[in-house]
Amino acid sequence: MRSRKRSILRSVATTSDFERMLRGVALRVTRPRLAVLAAVHVHPHADTDSIIGAVRREFPTVSHQTVYDVLRALTVAGLVRRIQPPGSVARYESRVGDNHHHVVCRSCGAIADVDCAVGEAPCLTASDDQGFAIDEAEVTYWGVCPQCAATAAVT
Ligand SMILES: [Zn+2]
Ligand SMILES: [Zn+2]
Repeated sequence: MRSRKRSILRSVATTSDFERMLRGVALRVTRPRLAVLAAVHVHPHADTDSIIGAVRREFPTVSHQTVYDVLRALTVAGLVRRIQPPGSVARYESRVGDNHHHVVCRSCGAIADVDCAVGEAPCLTASDDQGFAIDEAEVTYWGVCPQCAATAAVT
């Protein structure tokens, strides 16, 4: 059922869905917030520059600072998840709340989602928590994406 909910959000999220999401976390509905939320939904794992570019296609006058501020507000509110694999700039995605993992291409930096290997609330139960109150586990798989592997095989 988790994947069904995800595909609905990804494919047919509309402006009214985004308005509802903003109201649901007590954020005022503004044009920049709607535009950034839409951009993050359409471009999962995009970095800030790509999001600014996508937002400006709809809303040419928006400033960098506005997009930065909106991304921060959306992240704090939990509508957007910020990830930053080592060696990468910060990237944003709309798939939140399931603590899914990522696979990163060592060659081109492409990022894809990986569902947890064990089920819900993945990997939060540390084998030994050392007394810490753990609230997040981050797993990054590293490798080579299919495109890079194909290119390497040809050359
Ligand atoms: Zn690659
Ligand atoms: Zn992701």
